[in-house]
Amino acid sequence: MARNPRYDVLFEPVKIGPVTAPNRFYAVPHAAGMTNAMPHMRASFRETKAEGGWGVVCTGYVSIDPTADDSPLPYATLWDDDDIRSHALMTEAVHRHGALAGIELWHGGGSVMNRTSRLPSISPSGTSWMATHVNFMGNQRPKAMDADDIRALINSQAAAARRARSAGFDIVYVYAGMGYLPYEFLLPEWNFRTDAYGGSVANRVRIVRELLEASREAVAGKCAVALRISLEELRVRPSEVAPSQAHEVVALLSDAVDLWDVKLDSSPTDCAPSRFAVEGSHEKVIDFVKKLTPKPVVGVGRFTSPDTMVGQVRRGVLDLIGAARPSIADPFLPRKIDEGREQDIRECIGCNICISSWHDSVPVRCTQNPTIGEEWRRGWHPERVAPAASTSSVLVVGAGPAGLECALALGRRGYEVTVAEAGEDIGGRLRFETRLPGLAAWGRVLDWRRGQLQRLANVDVYRGNRLSAEEILGLGHTHVVIATGARWARLLYSPLEIPVGELEGPSVYTPDDLAAGARLESPVVVYDFDNYYMGSVLAEHLAKSGHGVSYVTPAGHASAWTIMSNEQPQVHRALHSAGIELHTLSRVTALAGGEVTLANQFTDAATRLPCAALLIVGARFANDALHGALAARASELPDAGIQSVTRIGDALAPGAIVHAVYSGHRYARELDADPATLTYRRDAPLPRPT
Ligand code: ADP
Ligand code: SF4
Repeated sequence: MARNPRYDVLFEPVKIGPVTAPNRFYAVPHAAGMTNAMPHMRASFRETKAEGGWGVVCTGYVSIDPTADDSPLPYATLWDDDDIRSHALMTEAVHRHGALAGIELWHGGGSVMNRTSRLPSISPSGTSWMATHVNFMGNQRPKAMDADDIRALINSQAAAARRARSAGFDIVYVYAGMGYLPYEFLLPEWNFRTDAYGGSVANRVRIVRELLEASREAVAGKCAVALRISLEELRVRPSEVAPSQAHEVVALLSDAVDLWDVKLDSSPTDCAPSRFAVEGSHEKVIDFVKKLTPKPVVGVGRFTSPDTMVGQVRRGVLDLIGAARPSIADPFLPRKIDEGREQDIRECIGCNICISSWHDSVPVRCTQNPTIGEEWRRGWHPERVAPAASTSSVLVVGAGPAGLECALALGRRGYEVTVAEAGEDIGGRLRFETRLPGLAAWGRVLDWRRGQLQRLANVDVYRGNRLSAEEILGLGHTHVVIATGARWARLLYSPLEIPVGELEGPSVYTPDDLAAGARLESPVVVYDFDNYYMGSVLAEHLAKSGHGVSYVTPAGHASAWTIMSNEQPQVHRALHSAGIELHTLSRVTALAGGEVTLANQFTDAATRLPCAALLIVGARFANDALHGALAARASELPDAGIQSVTRIGDALAPGAIVHAVYSGHRYARELDADPATLTYRRDAPLPRPT
C-alpha cells in the first residue's frame, strides 16, 4: 500500500548540525536495561528500530566516568577506549539501515550513589537527591564540587565525546535533565554556589555551555551536539528578562546546540502512565522552545497517532517526533506509516512495564511487544515468524491476552488455529479491566490483536464456547493450549507475608465478583496485598460509583509495586481526590458485626473500620482445572490425536498482562522447534584488548 500523502511531512529529512536525519522519526535515548555486558542484545534491539524506519536511534544513558555509577541500575559506560567496541556494534547495526546513531552521555551527579566505584558522588553544592523510596536511597551525601571537579567533569565529557565519535555515533548528547549533574547546576535547590557557576541564570547555565563546547571541540565537526534538557521546573520559575527561566536558558544556549531534546523533570511526569496522562502531555511545557531557536527540536509524548505527529510538526511544536515507548511497542511504527499500514501499528498502551524493567535492572520488557529485548537472545523479530514446521492444528482454549497472542503468532506461522472462548466476547481479563478508571488505553492489547486476527483465514474464533475435557478429546486437534486465566482468592495475609486463611461470608468479594457484576454495600474496604494496579483502581472505581471506600494494605504505600511503573505518586493523588481513606502497614485479621479488624503489620496494634463489603485484592491462582482434567485422561490423548497439552499465561502462572502475552508468544514461536535451539543465547561483555 502507498503512504497517505497527509503523512509525507513525517518523511522529510531534517538537518541536525553536520548530519542529516533521513526522516522525522527519532527514537530518543531511553533506559533499556542493557549494559555493556549485553552488547549484542543491545545492538540487535536498536538495529530493529532502525530497520523499522526510525531515522535516528539513540542509546540509553552512558556514563562518562566512574564518578557516575548508577549501579545496581543498568547503565552503560564509555569510561575508556576499551568500551568503544561495545558501542560500535550498535552504531554499525543502526547504520546498516541508513539511520543515525545518537549517544546520551551522562553524569548522574548527586542522584547516584557510586555503589560499585565507591568514589564520592559529586554535586554543585553537596546536595543529594533524598528520595523517599528505598530503591533510590543512599547513605552517603555528595562532595560539593570544587574547581578541579568542574575541570574533571568537562574533561570526562570531552573524552567520552571523542570515544563516541570513534564508536561511530552521529549525535553526541549533553544531558541536563531529570536530576542529573548538569541539571543540578540549573536549579537553585541544588546549586547555591557563589562562584561563576552559581547565582544568576547566566551563571547556572555556564557548566552546560562548557560541556556543549567541550563536546563540540571533541567531535571536530563530525557529529551533531544535542542538549537534552528538562524544562518543567524552569518553566514555572519567574525570570526578570524572559517569560520564565526556561525561556532564558533556551535563549542563552541556542547558539551552542545543534539539536534540542526537550523533556520533563521527573520520571512519573516525563514517562507518564496512560492511567493518568494522555498522549502529548509534554506540549504545555515545551511548546515555547521552537519559537526561541532556529535549531531542530525533538520531544516525546507517547505519540502513536500519525495525525498527532503531523499536528506537532505543522503547529511548530516539534521538528522530530521523539519516541521511547512507542518505539518499544512497535519498532516498525515508521515503516507502517510509510507503507500506508497505520492500522497495523501496535500502539503503546502506556502501562510502563518497560520502565519497570529498568527499575528491576533487567532488559526491557513490553506488554504489547513480546519480542522486545529478545531480538538477539531468542532471535525473535517483531514482524517476522518462522513458517509452520508441520501441518498440525492447534486448539487454544481461552481468548485472554495469552490465548490471543498465541493464536496470532501461530496463525502468522501458518498453523490451523481454533480459539474457543467461554465468554460472549474475546479479551479475557481485559473485558473488565479496560472499563476501570484510567485503563481504557489498555484496550489496545485486545483491539490490535482482534484486528490482526480478523485477517487470518487460518484462525477461527468461537465465542460463548466453554470447553470441557470431554469435548476437547472429541475435537481432534494436534496440540491443545490451555489459556484459561486465573482467579482471585479470598485469602487473608499472614505476618510472614504469605497469603493464608480463607475468609468466607456473603460480604467478602474478589475482583472476579466485581467483574461478574456483584453489587456491593457501602462502606467498602478494599484490602490490597497484590500491590499492583488492581487494588487502587478498584478503590477508585467504587468511590466514583458512589461508595464510601477505605483502602487497606500491609505495604507502606498504596499499590506499592507501582513505584516501578511511575504510577505511585498519581495513585496516591487519585485515592486522595476520590475521598478514599488510606490505611497502610495494616493487615485485615477479621470481619464481623459490620467491622473489619486491622492489625499493624509490625506492632500488631488493632484498630477497627466500618465495613459492609470487604474486597480482597490479594493472591491469584491458576484456573488449571481443565488442564488437570486432561492430564487425568492422558492415556486417551493419543487416540484422540492430541500430541500435547500445554498451559500458558495466567493458567500457568498468574501474572501481569505482560507475562501472559509473552507466554503466549513464546509457545507459538517454539511449537515444532528443535528443542536444542530453545535455550536462549547468553550475551557477555566483549573481551578487553590485551
Ligand atoms: P490470560 O491473561 O492468561 O490470557 P485471562 O484470564 O485474561 O488469562 O483469559 C482467560 C480466558 O479464558 C477468559 O476469557 C475465560 O473466559 C476463558 N476460559 C476459561 N476457561 C475456559 C474454557 N474451559 N473454555 C473456553 N474458554 C475458557
Ligand atoms: Fe508502552 Fe507498556 Fe510497552 Fe512500555 S510496556 S512500551 S508503556 S505498552
